[in-house]
Amino acid sequence: EADDLATEAEVRANDRGHVFHSWSAQAQINPLPVASGAGSTFWDYEGNAYLDFSSQLVNLNLGHQHPDLVAAIQNQAGRLATIQPAMANDVRGELARRISEVAPGTLNKVFFTNGGADANEYAVRMARRVTGKRKVLSMYRSYHGSTATAISLTGDPRRWANEPSDGSVAHFFGPYLYRSAFHATTEAEESARALEHLEQVIVLEGAQTIAAIIIETIVGTNGVLVPPAGYLPGVRALCDKYNIVYIADEVMVGFGRIGEWFAVNAFDVTPDLITFAKGVNSGYVPLGGVVISDAISAFFDDVPFPGGLTYSGHPLACAPGVATFDVFERDNILERVKDLGSRIIEPTVRGWLETHPSLGDVRGTGLFWALELVSNPETREPLVPFNASGAAAAPMNAVAAACKAAGLWPFVHFNRLHIAPPLVITEEELVRGLAIIDAALTVADGYVV
Ligand code: PLP
Repeated sequence: EADDLATEAEVRANDRGHVFHSWSAQAQINPLPVASGAGSTFWDYEGNAYLDFSSQLVNLNLGHQHPDLVAAIQNQAGRLATIQPAMANDVRGELARRISEVAPGTLNKVFFTNGGADANEYAVRMARRVTGKRKVLSMYRSYHGSTATAISLTGDPRRWANEPSDGSVAHFFGPYLYRSAFHATTEAEESARALEHLEQVIVLEGAQTIAAIIIETIVGTNGVLVPPAGYLPGVRALCDKYNIVYIADEVMVGFGRIGEWFAVNAFDVTPDLITFAKGVNSGYVPLGGVVISDAISAFFDDVPFPGGLTYSGHPLACAPGVATFDVFERDNILERVKDLGSRIIEPTVRGWLETHPSLGDVRGTGLFWALELVSNPETREPLVPFNASGAAAAPMNAVAAACKAAGLWPFVHFNRLHIAPPLVITEEELVRGLAIIDAALTVADGYVV
């Protein structure tokens, strides 16, 4: 069998010669050839092991090669490898029912998509059709995907090179106490002022033009920004007041990342639509979707929904989704995420505020944390500028390189290092990984002025 395996040189040659990569200047990248993975670890062709503290793209919630997910896919492939979406299918229906059971309120139906971006596309399309309005509000500090509407919703710089985009999108500031846009000094002030700001944006944009507000329940790639108490219920109240659909983007935080099936469950709020992807089946087969309230799905009882996908609810993707529910329940995944987050990560990273001058802020919950690095803790000057690349990003690249050299694959974005390991990480692995990050932070400390 070994004879059939490509060599590292072949993998590299095929990749460099023929694979066109996401978000990259093609001549400036050198993708790591990965030979295998198991649990929270993957290996390159030289036998180097990497403890994956980014869960790939924060999707590998149950780790590599989880036996239950692999078996579910193999079993489904042997039974019925595909069936088109207009037919009823056992695993598709079971997954939709089990998602509905853990979703809040009357969110009882699921439209399946291929991933997160198209989930947001379809959520917005539903909101526009139901309200008869077009505009959507989203945060500057957000990522909602890369398809046409989703990249317009996205507030971060990935939107820029895709402009002019969907003109019916306006951006606003969300709560972010460490760099408050509202000169707030407490969480309560930040929450109240962020809500006042959002209401002003609604009024100035014209409530009669606004179909939806879309918010990552905890802002993910743009900073693990945990909303202060009251903020999301306040958004819910504004949506009710102005007849706006509230869409919760839970593509990154859904399915256990913070120890909840859906993160809204931790914030006492029920949106009209929830979008998900990634953790629903740990990305073993592409899958996303929209969970839909009774009120919105009832609108389409006698009005056809204007949208669809050949692979909506693909059985090879839904089968590991069903297995994900079984594993979460059997192995108490939600409880262990909360426990590891509060017992191991939180005290460790908060302790680093005392020992690492480059650490400006730490925040997070469950297995989802951000370390925000600064070159000056007094002024809070970021360790690298917003959207830094090339030479300007050198300090963060040095921190990442120190992690990789010690056998840890980090998630780095701008001046932040995120901690987002698989939810099945062992306590020993978690402690070992945190020690590697602790050591790598001394590299960042060297840049503090
Ligand atoms: N929404 C959020 C919050 C995300 O983090 C992502 C991906 O990182 C997306 C949407 C887009 O998902 P996908 O890459 O599956 O299209």
